Amino acid sequence: MRNLVTGGAGFIGSNLVEKLIKNGEYVICLDNFSSSSKINIKDWLNNPKFKLIEHDIIDPIEIEIDRIWHLASPASPLHYQANPIKTSKTLFLGTYNMLGLAKRVGARLLMASSSEIYGNPEISPQTENYTGSVNTMGIRSCYDEGKRIAETLCFDYNRKNSVEVRIARIFNTYGPKMLPNDGRVVSNFITQSLEKKPLTIYGNGSQTRSFCYISDLINGLIKLMNSNFIGPVNLGNPQEISIKKLAEIIKSKIDNQLEFSYKSLPQDDPLMRLPSIEIAKKYLKWEPYIEINEGLTKTINYMKEVKNEF
Ligand code: UDP
Repeated sequence: MRNLVTGGAGFIGSNLVEKLIKNGEYVICLDNFSSSSKINIKDWLNNPKFKLIEHDIIDPIEIEIDRIWHLASPASPLHYQANPIKTSKTLFLGTYNMLGLAKRVGARLLMASSSEIYGNPEISPQTENYTGSVNTMGIRSCYDEGKRIAETLCFDYNRKNSVEVRIARIFNTYGPKMLPNDGRVVSNFITQSLEKKPLTIYGNGSQTRSFCYISDLINGLIKLMNSNFIGPVNLGNPQEISIKKLAEIIKSKIDNQLEFSYKSLPQDDPLMRLPSIEIAKKYLKWEPYIEINEGLTKTINYMKEVKNEF
């Protein structure tokens, strides 16, 4: 299979590239390096089964491929809010360009959608038929609405142009190859702890998230791409924890003397997030296996190893 991975140098993208190459597949990685790093793909740069194209997907591109794994987008609130108009443009034009490419070459396209399409959810757990509670005017809207229009484009290309699409709604994910400075909570807490700084808890820390370890997520993406199921399907770990609890676990693994520094809760920060994974279990026979303690230990070890590389 000739695979195109957009955002292939990013956190999820580079883990997917690694898995595909280790499975003996051919991979073209497309990335503009806006929120990713060459360090994540350095092992493959001289591999004949790997090709890197530095390209911004807001511009069309012609490549002969069989499968498109469309992951390119800034994903941390810090990054997607830095240039929000560019974020909307990337999610609309980028997805439009990739679907146009899929149509021309007859490729199957997997879209990395997000739990953010549920906004600040009023139900828990979030099931795929929940249409969400999303603000069009807030600082998260560029990403939330961007992922929603990206899904809409996928379904319309499927209905009108018979493009084969697969829609994954990815919940919070963590693990090796996350940028230490990417601004998300797991990388922030680990980086702060390793630097002996206070852990910054936004709000009172009672808001919840459900964290999925990267290898579990990659298995889910591959199962979805190989299945006959269009989706949308939630991919996430149904173990919900508060942000305060997460801070306590990370602190206990690195240095129990560390303090917490409370900051204000950002606008529209979802109060809870928990995936229902019944659809994934039923149609993909997928569920995550790595629980948070094990996953955090692996992630901390990775961050210690790469501390001086970034
Ligand atoms: N958060 C925090 N401290 C940080 C970074 C994030 O308390 O240094 C909180 C944030 O307000 C949110 C949760 O952790 O409630 C997850 O944030 P993240 O940016 O990782 O992802 P999100 O799920 O909000 O997109």
